[in-house]
Amino acid sequence: MEIKHADFVISAVEKNGYPEQLEYTEFAFVGKSNVGKSSLINSVTNRKKLAKTSKTPGRTQLINYFLINKKFYFVDLPGYGFAKVPKAVKDNWGKIIGDYLQSDRKKLVFVLLDIRRVPSGEDLEMLRWLEHNEVDYKIIFTKVDKLSNNEKFKQLKEIKKKLVFDNNDVLFYSSLNNTGKQELLDFIKENL
Ligand code: GDP
Repeated sequence: MEIKHADFVISAVEKNGYPEQLEYTEFAFVGKSNVGKSSLINSVTNRKKLAKTSKTPGRTQLINYFLINKKFYFVDLPGYGFAKVPKAVKDNWGKIIGDYLQSDRKKLVFVLLDIRRVPSGEDLEMLRWLEHNEVDYKIIFTKVDKLSNNEKFKQLKEIKKKLVFDNNDVLFYSSLNNTGKQELLDFIKENL
């Protein structure tokens, strides 16, 4: 599969702002601010600016819907874990993300984790929550170009002290050189 069409549909904060169509599978992207979410969405859709990339973490506070190939949605959720914001703003993000994840839309959640970092408390909380609520999800490790194979191997060992997973069940991605793009597209196709 190749992504030929990627069109912005709508920004929403609340359930009543989500698109009315329920027949399309929704692939949602979540992760800590700066994990590389916008870059990944742009890379996989072959677009430079579909999702905004920014060096200021936590700028996007909306749920952005994109219609892909006129067949399914990408849902860009606000990044979490940005330290320098007031608690009220954080609570609001939590609600925006939580409302979406609890909605009974046909969805699969991609949880993005920076391969160079041990998952944060918020990452682990997110994964536990998805597990507990039986929401389908898939882990994508981002920025894999930043590590050599040897470093990657060592880092995965470190990460596994906090998080149990099989290397074959996760995806590895680089938006810089598109490593993992085909695997991600194949995975999406299988899960439409
Ligand atoms: P977001 O906040 O999760 O949307 O993160 P962005 O996509 O804006 O990326 C945050 C920073 O990481 C930017 O400076 C990007 O250029 C950089 N970045 C994102 N993905 C990659 C990647 O795969 N490889 C490298 N080397 N840098 C990346």
